Amino acid sequence: MSGLTSAAYPPSLSEAETEHLVNTIKDWSAGNGLEIRPPPTVIAAEADPKGISAINAPVTLFPSPFPRQCFAQALGVQTTYNELYAAVSRDEEFIEDTVNQVVEGDEFIKNLWDIHQKVKAEGYTQSLSLGLFRSDYMVHQDTSAGSPTFQVKQVEFNTIASSFGGLSYYTSRLHKYLSTREYPLLKNAIPTDMMELPGNNSIPGLAAGIETAFHAYPASELGHTNCIIFLVQDGERNVFDQRHLEYRLAEVAPGVPLFRLAFSDIKKHTSIADTPKRQLLYHLPQCPDKTYEVAVVYLRAGYGPGDYPDQAAWDARYHIERSSAIKCPTVLTQLAGTKKVQQVLATPQPASEPSILGRFVKAAAADQVAELSKTFTNIYPMDTSPAGLEARKKALDPKLAEAYVLKPQREGGGNNIYRGAIPAYLKSIPESHWNSYILMELITPPPVSNLILRNGNVEKGGVICEVGIYGTCLWDQKTDEIYHNELAGYLLRTKGDKSEEGGVAAGYGCMDSCCLV
Ligand code: ADP
Ligand code: MG
Ligand code: MG
Repeated sequence: MSGLTSAAYPPSLSEAETEHLVNTIKDWSAGNGLEIRPPPTVIAAEADPKGISAINAPVTLFPSPFPRQCFAQALGVQTTYNELYAAVSRDEEFIEDTVNQVVEGDEFIKNLWDIHQKVKAEGYTQSLSLGLFRSDYMVHQDTSAGSPTFQVKQVEFNTIASSFGGLSYYTSRLHKYLSTREYPLLKNAIPTDMMELPGNNSIPGLAAGIETAFHAYPASELGHTNCIIFLVQDGERNVFDQRHLEYRLAEVAPGVPLFRLAFSDIKKHTSIADTPKRQLLYHLPQCPDKTYEVAVVYLRAGYGPGDYPDQAAWDARYHIERSSAIKCPTVLTQLAGTKKVQQVLATPQPASEPSILGRFVKAAAADQVAELSKTFTNIYPMDTSPAGLEARKKALDPKLAEAYVLKPQREGGGNNIYRGAIPAYLKSIPESHWNSYILMELITPPPVSNLILRNGNVEKGGVICEVGIYGTCLWDQKTDEIYHNELAGYLLRTKGDKSEEGGVAAGYGCMDSCCLV
């Protein structure tokens, strides 16, 4: 395969070949847990009253071509990104400053910050902090120097509930399986030796992060067995993605109890010991006499306002934060992952001022700082600073706005405002709230084609790929100590090129893997 737009890739398929490939993928996905719970629009509740059905996760029929140097670039910066975000989350003054710039129009961020303030006042009893991060990128094509060069540009950095590590591991395996068993049989056969499919250790990598944190927590002074909690949303459809991490932990740490707890049940099934340490205790719902001490709380919930319908939900988050369990993430680490922080980090400083990145990444690593900077694209504040006023002008002009995406401080997909919709949106909200958004240049990756299998149907056409690199980090909030800093595999998500958003769970995108070109 030569070049990204190779006309021969993916190979054109006959109807019979498409059907055969689809059937193969259907069975492989079910057999290996590359599955999600069906949305009600696909299988009606009446048709599955006991909730036993699972369906294939949407997936591409072929791995998408992805520039080798871009893949290497994204992997190469991950442990520096881990270090950067660990350092940002330790820098309370910096986070307070960025929070202050957005709180006026953002009650959610304000509530999170208030929780941190309250726990700080009584004193944190756990200084270890766990991050399971995912840094997301798209390929940017630079034609300014004649022949095009490719670089990855960061879309965002996730510090809470970074999902799809479970399913992406299996997507890489699916495409590997197809490349050995099926693609060589096609009329337009792809010679397997021309396909370079990188390995993906997302499940073992992410599970190792959780396991490391578990072992860093001391034996229970209260005489309980220590456990791990996955804090999840009620009715989560992406449950197998999470289960795969749990199953891996059950294999590598078989003696460690692990429980799934709905965010809305925190107060029902946990309590805090009346001790100076404030241990978090989990009471087994089916047998409340059985109590465990929680060493690690892994949040796959709590990242958006939907999980906080009332004050009781905020109290529950406070309850977790003030406990001595190791949180993944703490409130501070969650706040380090806002788009506002990303904007501040990506904004070049005047030459006369010290680099913002240098404040967080050790001075000795100047070359690493330069590598991080290469992944930034232009992001602007929407405040009343000179740069902010300039950004407001662009955002309010229907023509200029076409090159941008407007982002609030939210996670989980479906929250951004794109292109021509930006001016009217801004005018619909109070001007005093504009500060709580950032304006980001759209990255326009080179065109790629693929076929997407979604709900049994095959969609064919131009696609846009977003690669996510996982990283795990365990650090001490009080000292400079980093105990664990690792790369943990990757995710490739692909969406139709007419769609703005790419979230698989949100129903826009699909699972994919990289074929390096
Ligand atoms: P979230 O935290 O909700 O996932 P993102 O910043 O990742 O928010 O935006 C959601 C989606 O919007 C991305 O997955 C991507 O498809 C698209 N997107 C966001 N920023 C950009 C950008 N600068 N250029 C192109 N697409 C973008
Ligand atoms: Mg995203
Ligand atoms: Mg996000």
